[in-house]
Amino acid sequence: PLSLLKDPSLLKTDALINGQWVAGSSRFVVTDPATGAHLADVANLGAADAEAAINAANAAWPAWRNKTAKERSIILRKWFDLIMANQDDLGRIMTAEQGKPLAEAKGEVAYGASFVEWFAEEAKRVNGETLPQFDNNRRLLVLRQPIGVCAAITPWNFPIAMITRKVAPALAAGCTVVIKPAELTPLTALAAAELAIRAGIPAGVLNMVTADADNSIAVGKAICASDIVRHISFTGSTEVGRILMAQSAPTVKKMSLELGGNAPFIVFDDADIDSAVEGAFASKYRNAGQTCVCSNRLYVQAGVYDEFVAKFAAKVKTAKVGNGFDDGVNQGPLIEEAALQKVQRHVDDAVAKGGRVVAGGKRLPGLFYEPTVVADASADMLCAREETFGPFAPVFKFETEAEAIFAANNTEFGLASYFYSRDVGRIWRVSEALEYGMVGVNVGILATEHVPFGGVKQSGLGREGSHHGIDDYVEIKYVCVGDI
Ligand code: ADP
Repeated sequence: PLSLLKDPSLLKTDALINGQWVAGSSRFVVTDPATGAHLADVANLGAADAEAAINAANAAWPAWRNKTAKERSIILRKWFDLIMANQDDLGRIMTAEQGKPLAEAKGEVAYGASFVEWFAEEAKRVNGETLPQFDNNRRLLVLRQPIGVCAAITPWNFPIAMITRKVAPALAAGCTVVIKPAELTPLTALAAAELAIRAGIPAGVLNMVTADADNSIAVGKAICASDIVRHISFTGSTEVGRILMAQSAPTVKKMSLELGGNAPFIVFDDADIDSAVEGAFASKYRNAGQTCVCSNRLYVQAGVYDEFVAKFAAKVKTAKVGNGFDDGVNQGPLIEEAALQKVQRHVDDAVAKGGRVVAGGKRLPGLFYEPTVVADASADMLCAREETFGPFAPVFKFETEAEAIFAANNTEFGLASYFYSRDVGRIWRVSEALEYGMVGVNVGILATEHVPFGGVKQSGLGREGSHHGIDDYVEIKYVCVGDI
C-alpha cells in the first residue's frame, strides 16, 4: 500500500533532531497489522539521543519564543495547509501501520490538522491582563509566557492527532518540543514532521525521537530526568501515566495527562432508541473500539432494554471487518496480539458470569475480532471495571436513574460519558451528576478542535484543544510596577 503514495518522499524512517534526519545505531521494524507485512525499519534511538534532542530544543527556544505571535501563526498555518494537501498520503501511511479503515484515517488527518489550524489562530490570542492597583503608585500586570522545552509522548491509536493536539499549542505559545511517537505508528508521525520542516518550522523547534518499546522506556526516563524539559504531555495508559508522573517528581515538571477511560453509555426509557443505537455503534466501534473515549459499558433502562439489545445487535452484525484499504470495511484489525487477548479475556469472563452473546464473540484469522455484543452484563465482570479497548460492548440493565448514575461513576476513571434521554430535566441532572470530563447527550461522538478534551479522576490532568488548550504551555507571571 505504501508504494501508492503520491509523494514517496513523505515516507521517512529516520528520527529528527535539530533539523537533521538521524539514522541511529539500530533500527526497529514497523508492520501492517492487517497483513503482518513488513513496512519499514525505523531509527531506534536511546537516552543519549533524547538528550541531544532536548538540547537542540533548548537552543532553538529563544529565537522561536522571540518571534511574534503572528510569525509563529503563519508558520503553523502553513503546516496545516501542507497536512491537508497531503491528506491522502498521510491517510494511506496511517492505515498501513495502524489498521484503521482508510476513510477513518483520512478523517483523522483532517482532525489532526484542525488542531494546527486552531492553534495557529489562538497563537495571536495569548493575552495577558492588567489588574486594579492596590496603591495608586503601582500598576499590576499579568504576563503569559511560554513554559519552555516541552515533551510529548504519544500513543498509536491516533497517530497524528495526538501529536498535533500537543505540539500545535506548544509551538503557538512559543515553546519548542521533543516528541516520542508510539513505536507501532512512527511513520505517520515522521511524515507529519517532514511537513513541519517544509512549512518552515526552524531546526530544533520540533524534534522527533523514534524508539522501540524498550528504548521508549529509556527515552522516557531521560525526558523525565531532564531539568531542561519543563512540561510533559502524555496520552496513553493510566499505568504509564503514573510512571511518568512519579519519574517527573524530582524535577517538579508540569504535566498534561490524557489516560485511560471506562466510558459509560446510558440509554434511558425516554430515549430515541434508533438514535441511541446509532450513537452507541459510532461510540463503541470507531477505530475497532481502540479509543479512550469509546463507550466501554452500555447501561440500558429496563423498559427499553430488550428493544435496544435487539436493534443494537442487528446493527453490529452489519459491520464489515477487514483490511482497512478494502472498500466498505468499517472494522479494521486490532493493533497487536495482546489487544486481541484482552478482548477475548473480557468476552470469556462475561460469558462465564452469565453474559449472553448476541453478536460476534470470536476471533477471526490474523489480528481481527468480530464486533461483539454481550447482553445481561453484571457489575462483577471484568468489563465493568477495565477498559476493553476493543470491539466488545457489554450491555447492563438498570431500573432507576440513581442506579445508573451510581454504576456510571463507580470507577477510578472519568474521561468520556454518554447518555440518551429526551427529558430536559434529566438531561441537566445527569450531565451534572456524571463525574467525567466530557458528557455526550444524545450523541456518540463529541471531540473536535475547539472544545476542551480531557478527564477527571485517574483519567488525567489538563485539557487539550479549545482556548483552554494553550494554558498548559504558558506560565503566568505577575509584574508589579512601582514609582508610577
Ligand atoms: P497504549 O496502551 O496506548 O499502548 P502506552 O501507555 O503503553 O499506551 O503507550 C503510549 C506511549 O507511551 C507510547 O509512545 C509508548 O512508547 C510510551 N511508553 C510506554 N511505556 C513508557 C515508559 N515507561 N516511559 C515512557 N514512555 C513509555
